[in-house]
Amino acid sequence: MSFRLKTILGIAMIELTVMALLIAINQFALGGSATAQLYQRAESTARVFSNAVSDAVIATDLATLDATIETALGSEELTYLRVRSPDGIVLSEGGAADALAVPFQRDASFDTARTDHVIDIDLAITVEGTTFGVIELGLSTLAVEEEIAAALRWNVIVAMIGMSLVAVFGYGLGSILTHQLSGLRQGAREIATGNLECQIRVRGGDELADTALCFNEMARTLSQDRAVLQSQRNTLLAKKERVGVIVDCMRQISKNEDGVTVPDTDRSDEIGDMARATVVFQNAMQAVEQARHEQQRLISAFDQLDEQVAIFGTTGEVLFLNRAFRAFNQPILETLPEDFTLELFLQAGCAADAFPDAGTNQAVWIKDQLAREHGTPQEIKRAPDRILLTVQTDVDGVGVVWSAQDVTELRHNEHQLIQASKMATLGEMATGIAHELNQPLGVIRMAASNCVKRIEKDKFDAEYFKAKLLRMGEQTERASQIINHMRVFGRKAEGTMEPFDLRASLTEMVTLARAQLQTLDVSLKLSLPEAGDGTVMGEKVIFEQVLLNLFSNARDAIDAQEGRGGTVQVEAKFDTPDGHVLRIMDSGGGIPDSVLDKLFEPFFTTKEPGKGTGLGLSISFGTIRDMGGLITAHNAGEGACFTITLPAAQVALGDETPAIAAE
Ligand code: ADP
Repeated sequence: MSFRLKTILGIAMIELTVMALLIAINQFALGGSATAQLYQRAESTARVFSNAVSDAVIATDLATLDATIETALGSEELTYLRVRSPDGIVLSEGGAADALAVPFQRDASFDTARTDHVIDIDLAITVEGTTFGVIELGLSTLAVEEEIAAALRWNVIVAMIGMSLVAVFGYGLGSILTHQLSGLRQGAREIATGNLECQIRVRGGDELADTALCFNEMARTLSQDRAVLQSQRNTLLAKKERVGVIVDCMRQISKNEDGVTVPDTDRSDEIGDMARATVVFQNAMQAVEQARHEQQRLISAFDQLDEQVAIFGTTGEVLFLNRAFRAFNQPILETLPEDFTLELFLQAGCAADAFPDAGTNQAVWIKDQLAREHGTPQEIKRAPDRILLTVQTDVDGVGVVWSAQDVTELRHNEHQLIQASKMATLGEMATGIAHELNQPLGVIRMAASNCVKRIEKDKFDAEYFKAKLLRMGEQTERASQIINHMRVFGRKAEGTMEPFDLRASLTEMVTLARAQLQTLDVSLKLSLPEAGDGTVMGEKVIFEQVLLNLFSNARDAIDAQEGRGGTVQVEAKFDTPDGHVLRIMDSGGGIPDSVLDKLFEPFFTTKEPGKGTGLGLSISFGTIRDMGGLITAHNAGEGACFTITLPAAQVALGDETPAIAAE
């Protein structure tokens, strides 16, 4: 239903209701007053007629009565008149026959009167309290009804005219409104179809005109916004295209394709940022690729190593095992999960009896292994018969690198070298030892010859013989000691660490070497602390080889100097804060500064070919290191000074400690 029709119908309905109400009220008011007047008139007519006929009724003068009725009926309004006696007998009557034919019934209201268009009323004729008769009369209601009908007609006509005017006005108003609204509707439709340029005509200055202005403004704003959006969309599309190109580059880079050139790196917008970030990504990918290559090379390099390498992360988990490690430890690895730790590896090794060093207290041994000092090498035995030189290196940000070198053959060769070196030393010392042995032998020979001479002269002096025999015994003991020293020194090293007494070792080696040094006029002096035994852990015979080697070097240095003779001073201090400290100083002129840092390198020698091997100090260095100590060299006084620092053994030496004398 159109807005215009709704407007017209709405207004018409209101108008109709209002008019109906007005007519109803009007009719009600008009009807009320007209019928009231009619009733009044009927009542007053009855009273007047009563007065006029009262005498005739009292006198029962029927002729006068008829005449009076005849006269009264001259009024058009009066339909009938009747006079009855008090006992109801009709004394006289006149008027319309049909009205007279109906039995009298007083009308209580206008509505009952309307049924026959006559108001029926009655009135008693009373004189001084006595009723002489009753007057019944009927008054026509037609005039009043006609009046009311005429009024209704006029009301309806006025209402119809009013409604028509309102309908015309409603139609006009509706037309104007719908015209304006249809403009708006058309505009809205244009906008809905995308024509944001559309503007609607603005008529007048009312609210609709305002609405039209707002609509036009809205359309303009929408149009401008659309233009902005369009340009932004175009920009975005262009950017999307560039982004697509860069993303394509990224995809190629992530597939490690070579020769990818990233465009737009010189742009100053987000595309440029993205392009530059892609170049960074490309570089990072190349770096990653290179790192992967390097890692691969590193892994294959590690795999080429005979040395076992295992890398554990900061939380202890295994990161890398090289081929040598995997091959050597295959049986242990088979019992471990993928992500084992160094601790688990050691535990599994102990469980498989792979580490004889662990002994019975494996937990303590494992704990010690895990708490090992960074970079400190340690030899451990590996069942059944291997010796591994292991190092644990802490690497920042990585964890721990555990490496192990199989030094079984090396140690074997070293022992052989030491043995050979010892034999060489023994050979070197042979002259001195022979000289040393000659002395007691000479004394024995002299004593025996003196005894023989006494016997030949039959001089059997028991005291003399006893003294000579005791002397021979003493000298034999001395010779036996020297030979014992040589035997012990000549023994092969067994590779077992035991506690031994530095005091005894120093005394014995100084005794052994002294005679030999004396042949070159070199005096060997030993200065020991008054108390303490300087117990250390190690292999005594190998340690003694270190001392003899140092004495030999001192002797060679002194011998190489012009003019014969010199001194070698041996000093010992036990239980210092650094442990037991030994110093071997000589007057051999010292070591040139240029070679000081090469002294302990294997095969470094300044001696003539055939005389020096260059192994003495390097073997000594390894021996002292294996005992947990350190040997250093510097120049002091007239010559070189070698300092040996050894940790004090935590074990007290008992009576069962093997002693030279017991050999
Ligand atoms: P070798 O004695 O066979 O040369 P070493 O390893 O024992 O091998 O010694 C290496 C070198 O150290 C010697 O050749 C020598 O030059 C130097 N050296 C060792 N001890 C002394 C010393 N007491 N005085 C001066 N130089 C020394």
